[in-house]
Amino acid sequence: MSEERSLNFLEEIVEEDLRTGKYAGRVLTRFPPEPNGYLHIGHAKSICLNFGLALKYGGKTNLRFDDTNPVKEDIEYVDSIKEDVKWLGFEWANELYASDYFDTLYEFAVVLIKKGLAYVDDSSAEEIAAQKGTPTEAGTPNQFRARSVEENLALFADMKAGKYPDGAKVLRAKVDLASHNMHLRDPLMYRIKHANHHRTGDTWCIYPMYDFAHGQSDAIEEITHSICTLEFIPHRDLYNWFIEQLEIFPSKQYEFARLNLNYTVMSKRKLLQLVTEGHVEDWDDPRMPTISGLRRRGYTPASIRDFCDRIGVAKRENMIDVSLLEFCIREDLNKTAWRRMAVLDPIKMVITNYPEDETETMFGENNPEAEGGEGGREIPFSRELWIEREDFMEEPPKKFFRLGVGLSVRLKSAYIVTCNSFVKDAEGNVTEIHCTYLPESKSGHDTSELKVKGTIHWVSVAHAKTAEVRLYDRLFQVEDPSNEDNDFKEYLNPHSLQILPNAYIENDLATAIPGKGYQFIRKGYFTLDKHSTADKLVFNRTVTLKDSWKAPQPPKGGA
Ligand code: ATP
Ligand code: MG
Repeated sequence: MSEERSLNFLEEIVEEDLRTGKYAGRVLTRFPPEPNGYLHIGHAKSICLNFGLALKYGGKTNLRFDDTNPVKEDIEYVDSIKEDVKWLGFEWANELYASDYFDTLYEFAVVLIKKGLAYVDDSSAEEIAAQKGTPTEAGTPNQFRARSVEENLALFADMKAGKYPDGAKVLRAKVDLASHNMHLRDPLMYRIKHANHHRTGDTWCIYPMYDFAHGQSDAIEEITHSICTLEFIPHRDLYNWFIEQLEIFPSKQYEFARLNLNYTVMSKRKLLQLVTEGHVEDWDDPRMPTISGLRRRGYTPASIRDFCDRIGVAKRENMIDVSLLEFCIREDLNKTAWRRMAVLDPIKMVITNYPEDETETMFGENNPEAEGGEGGREIPFSRELWIEREDFMEEPPKKFFRLGVGLSVRLKSAYIVTCNSFVKDAEGNVTEIHCTYLPESKSGHDTSELKVKGTIHWVSVAHAKTAEVRLYDRLFQVEDPSNEDNDFKEYLNPHSLQILPNAYIENDLATAIPGKGYQFIRKGYFTLDKHSTADKLVFNRTVTLKDSWKAPQPPKGGA
């Protein structure tokens, strides 16, 4: 986290609590994902916030799986969540599961029944909704609200014992049917669901609702600052009510604005649809806003943490431009990526005055941004090279500082060449360009005194390896696909993936390191795809080299 910026509102709250000695100087936060999908960049914001806050104030963070809904949850998701949090660079103090508290939660419910603060209701979901009233009209009690403590205890035990089918009964808190806060109008605590749970198996057929699990789990763990997104503001009164009535640890809930990113969707339900309906390869498709997708695309943990730091913590919703995320990965890769040459759309160049069977070895630094260049690699040079088709024009306009007949360029790390002619096939496509080189212009030993404006990349035909290169564009064509009139999938960008099956790359890239970023000079940052093999190299473009996006000014008024 940068030192200059002023405190965000959550840091202010924590500092105040530390100053007044609330919670005896302890800070314990939690990250509470529901294991019903893979984590996305929005979760990264929550992770950075929860773990970041604890780290800053000498506290700890629990990883708690909010696994109270047996139907949609799965162990695959649990594993992926753990992998992603670790990969982002955070260590949790305890790995916990809300389902481990099912016995305690059941006891808590019994306490409330005994206090006359909970009752078993036989009404249907529709009846309950109708009896709740409207924001301007109080709800109406039904006959079940008057059940005795003994009857409620017996019925609740029977619910647990599996005597009733799904939906036959619910347990409700007896709070206030006239409350201005609809969430306090006798909210549900338990529902019957005869479903197998990925951890508790068939032990339970009643499951607690979010509102009767989350705050209680916080209290059981003695969480000091329970941070969630703004849509939970209306739940806060109920969160406090349960804790007060149960007289358990006084955890407190605080809300911040969720991250919204343009040109994508972030609800797990929608991401799951993209996967199951085959619009993307999987949860970790490099176009997905998931942590695993970003990782496969070539994003680094540092770039994602930097992004989360830059967007800050606000109390009002806004939309963040995806180009800020791209800015952050460029910043990081510019400092760390090794430079290599790759020709994505090849055309052959023949250097007519270069000996036919000669090969020279040029030298290229790995990373000119790093001190000492982090070493380098040898680049074979020979008479025939692949160059980028767009670096040649039959009829170049003025100020085209690349190749056309009569024009000269420097070949990166090698010689200056001048184009003399080109060859076309029967259809009129240029198939080959012919150049001559200046022997005295070799990079690092140039005595030619010739100045050329352009430098282009190349690979030697005899030495190049082939690779499949995948270029990505935004997954959606509109900024906010969830907020359009039609189904969000109608706004998918049909050109979000472009596959170049036959790119030529430096032979050195055959031993590219998985997970490492490479700058393909002039073409962007790339990384090996997880499906890449020695026989078939596959690279993903993480991001292009440039964008019109400007770094935002640091906020004013920092300490
Ligand atoms: P989704 O709507 O994608 O299913 P969720 O909120 O149901 O998300 P959870 O697994 O319950 O997903 O979320 C775990 C934590 O991450 C919660 O504290 C939640 O508030 C937070 N979170 C989820 N989405 C975002 C987001 N876009 N920005 C910031 N925090 C988020
Ligand atoms: Mg949720």
